[in-house]
Amino acid sequence: MAILLQRQFDDRQALINYVAQLSNQSMKNESATIIGGLSAAETALAQLNLTAYSHNRNHLSGAVSRLSPYLRHGIIAAHHLAMFVHQKVSDETAIRFIQQLAWRQFFQHIHQQSPDLIWKSKEAYKTGFHEQDYAPHLPKDIEQGTTGVKIIDQMISQLKTTGYLHNHCRLYLASYVIHWRRIQWQAGAQWFLNHLLDGDIVSNNYSWQWVASTFSSKPYIFNLDNVRQFSSNLLDTEHPSNRLFDTSYEDIHLDLFPNMPEKTS
Ligand SMILES: Cc1cc2nc3c(=O)[nH]c(=O)nc-3n(C[C@H](O)[C@H](O)[C@H](O)COP(=O)(O)OP(=O)(O)OC[C@H]3O[C@@H](n4cnc5c(N)ncnc54)[C@H](O)[C@@H]3O)c2cc1C
Repeated sequence: MAILLQRQFDDRQALINYVAQLSNQSMKNESATIIGGLSAAETALAQLNLTAYSHNRNHLSGAVSRLSPYLRHGIIAAHHLAMFVHQKVSDETAIRFIQQLAWRQFFQHIHQQSPDLIWKSKEAYKTGFHEQDYAPHLPKDIEQGTTGVKIIDQMISQLKTTGYLHNHCRLYLASYVIHWRRIQWQAGAQWFLNHLLDGDIVSNNYSWQWVASTFSSKPYIFNLDNVRQFSSNLLDTEHPSNRLFDTSYEDIHLDLFPNMPEKTS
């Protein structure tokens, strides 16, 4: 029997309440702040500041577009976005943004060649460890954001409450899960897909593999200085619980990958 769903609502809260009622899970009457639909996408597009983007996109407070949920759900097409950007600016200001979009297209291209391998490591880990050395499941403390490491728990909380994370936070979290906790990238990738509003199996899984080193030449790691440099004071980097990251790249590499000589390039 077909169920007719209500389609018109007085306001957004009425829609949220209706969805909460329909859900058979104990869902709270709240939702992420990202608004769906074409007009919201057009607003985000109109606000795109390509000059600022090219200077500060790596900073958590940088002028990133936040267009990924609209791209993911087909509200904007990547090639239209690229054309729009080219029309808006004709100089090299557009390059940084187009380069990021190109990553998306590149992963799609790789995926089309072998779609059945999306959950398989493309190469061996370059960490001195084998696939079987990594735990297959995500521990509860990571899932719940109770690891006790301040910046990690802050990022997990943001992932779960907003459905969005800046690219740098995605890199930090994925690196923590795979390299500090030695968990298979697949478990982390599945967890992200459960929460991200832009969750896209292709961009997501290949990005996790890039961090893991199964689709790159070396593992992605970070230290606290790097987080301080890019966090724009949006993470509590001074909390003592972050001390496991508060050392040099050389020491972190030695600690995490004792069987692996460090690559210099
Ligand atoms: C571990 C990990 C998981 C990720 N999971 C996803 C995912 O599920 N879905 C997803 O769309 N992106 C994913 N990304 C890529 C990237 O983080 C997001 O696309 C970006 O942060 C989205 O925010 P934005 O729209 O403000 O990006 P902007 O910096 O404004 O970039 C514009 C657009 O370019 C594309 N883009 C930018 N950076 C990348 C990148 N590194 N790889 C691929 N495409 C990129 C996106 O479509 C993005 O909307 C992941 C990255 C990592 C490291």
